Amino acid sequence: MSLFSSISEVFKGFKSLLVGMRITAGQAVKPTITVQYPHQTLKMPDRFRGHLELTIDPATGQTKCTACGLCVRACPSDCIDLDGLKKEGEKRKSVSKYEQNFTQCSLCGCCVDACPSDAIQYSKDYNVVSFNRDDFGKMDLFRKAEIKKQDWLKAHPQPPAPVVPPPPTTPAAPAPAPEQKQP
Ligand code: SF4
Ligand code: SF4
Repeated sequence: MSLFSSISEVFKGFKSLLVGMRITAGQAVKPTITVQYPHQTLKMPDRFRGHLELTIDPATGQTKCTACGLCVRACPSDCIDLDGLKKEGEKRKSVSKYEQNFTQCSLCGCCVDACPSDAIQYSKDYNVVSFNRDDFGKMDLFRKAEIKKQDWLKAHPQPPAPVVPPPPTTPAAPAPAPEQKQP
């Protein structure tokens, strides 16, 4: 190698070093975008599709599901199992069991589209982990909704029931006057 090509190589290396340092310095002053998971988590975008969840009526804290079964019929993967009952004094059925087999769900959305009551939606929960596969085979969405209901009740404490005054007592009839003995 001639002296000229050696010097040329040194300059090339030096130039490459400067280019690398410029990129490094440019990145060093940019805002940090790294999320320190699990101490920090990201907010999922609106269109994120997590597992299903039953929606809660924000006005009443109750689930909107009427156990009509349309979502079960719409599901191409047969991964919804639900049940419902009609409580005393209520006009419509309400859900009493709702399980999703998340291991078979393709997140296609047919169930969400089929629901006439907007009673199911995709959760924003991306952090589902378990050591037990059955936890995903039978995700108990009804129990999750019950927990949300309790949270709703804590956030909306119910006023105490009005105190009903006792019925007025009828005054006792006066005792009959003792009979006067004739002398
Ligand atoms: S998203 Fe699709 S596959 Fe999953 S439960 Fe709903 S209908 Fe079934
Ligand atoms: S989630 Fe909707 S479609 Fe499915 S049973 Fe409930 S009300 Fe019917």
